[in-house]
Amino acid sequence: MVTRFVLPAFILAFALSCGTAQADEPDVWFAAGTATVKARLAVKPNTRKAKNIILFIGDGMGVTTVTAGRIFDGQSRGGQGEENALSFENFPHTALVKTYNSNQQVPDSAGTASAMNTGVKTRAGVLGITAAAHRANCSEALANSVPTFAERAATQGKAIGVVTTTRITHATPAAVYAHSADREWEGADDLPPDALQQGCKSIAQQLIEFSPGPGIAVALGGGRGKFDASLLSSWRSRFPDGRLIADRTALAALDPAKAGHVLGLFNKSHMAYMQDRTAQTTEPTLSEMTAKAIEILSHTKQGYFLMVEGGRIDQAHHEGVAGKALLEVQEFSKAIQTAFDKVDLKDTLILVTADHSHSFTMAGYPTRGNPILGLVTENDEHGDPLDVPALALDGQPFTTLGYYNGPGAVTGPRPAPSTAANAKQQALIPTADHFANATNSAETHGGEDVPLYAAGPWSHLADGVIEQNVIYHIMSHAYGWRTP
Ligand SMILES: [Mg+2]
Ligand SMILES: [Zn+2]
Repeated sequence: MVTRFVLPAFILAFALSCGTAQADEPDVWFAAGTATVKARLAVKPNTRKAKNIILFIGDGMGVTTVTAGRIFDGQSRGGQGEENALSFENFPHTALVKTYNSNQQVPDSAGTASAMNTGVKTRAGVLGITAAAHRANCSEALANSVPTFAERAATQGKAIGVVTTTRITHATPAAVYAHSADREWEGADDLPPDALQQGCKSIAQQLIEFSPGPGIAVALGGGRGKFDASLLSSWRSRFPDGRLIADRTALAALDPAKAGHVLGLFNKSHMAYMQDRTAQTTEPTLSEMTAKAIEILSHTKQGYFLMVEGGRIDQAHHEGVAGKALLEVQEFSKAIQTAFDKVDLKDTLILVTADHSHSFTMAGYPTRGNPILGLVTENDEHGDPLDVPALALDGQPFTTLGYYNGPGAVTGPRPAPSTAANAKQQALIPTADHFANATNSAETHGGEDVPLYAAGPWSHLADGVIEQNVIYHIMSHAYGWRTP
């Protein structure tokens, strides 16, 4: 059961307008519509200086993923689904974000996260360096490093937190604290010898050496395999007060007032998908990590900057398994709810966005309330639901959710699709895995704009259609930084 927001009045009316209207009750729809306008009229811009900023990134959470995730979440609680709202959909301000990299029409997660964290767009595959440097070129990277938002925040005494469900050294979290010619230089073994010789450092080492200020206060995620014994021992000697933890029990037991620095590495690689978790799983959820990170960071008088990534939405999409991705969206939404409940929106800016979209589609003419992972069942000629799934021209039924490309690609006659929660949705093009093994198929990112949702100080700057690097500039304005 997901606890709903304790909503400020202006958002409450807004939420009610979405939650109670029924298609067969025109008065309810009408009243909800006027209530929504009234609520919008009551929204007053918050122009106070933000003490804290939390940037939530749903990796790969494009608009279709949000819509399908909202229906999935609503149906999992017994509703029809379409009327539901994910936690962040009740935020008062939104914008559309253009995600392309400086050299790529459909972007990757390193270039996009760098845009948000440095204020400038850059090439795909690189972290915290400008587009003047080429990917995988160490000396060019060293000459073209650009400060990250967290580095600037640290000079102002802000505590820094990074939380993710992927490896803590993976592209999205790495963009908070690292500068690298290549997103794949996660551990020392991942760097080519000449790069090491030229002075480039692994992303894991940069996490531990992060400066200025007292280092990263809280880092929680997977990726233990990228930290060898000598790195962990330098972490221990830099932070003698620190806590190095490896499971959910240890996280729960941390006293936030006395935690010191915390490095939580809960898996050798990425953390477990929600779909794969059992009662035996010893990893915390994204919500649990988010809650603890906020509790710890809140003890810093000058405030904090926290980046929280729902990192496996993207990876489930790459596998072409929508059911897996939507469970990750549901947990991501819960983590945002958790943050919302813990902070004061008077002094904390919360931004929720995606780095890029996916080739994910929601289509056909399914009837209202049709199971979101199910086969399309249409309405009859009077608009009432039929009781058998629609058939395509090849005589087979089809699912509402699908991918343009990836491992679900069907070559030859199309079999009847599976609607199991772990099924690969059918797709058209059997695209190769761009990043790992080119003989495997992986679904690709999508190039359309992604949403940005905002609440708290200066959240009204999230408006219109913006370039992705503008997110950095919204955050720096909210902190009251002067433009250089
Ligand atoms: Mg990511
Ligand atoms: Zn991806």
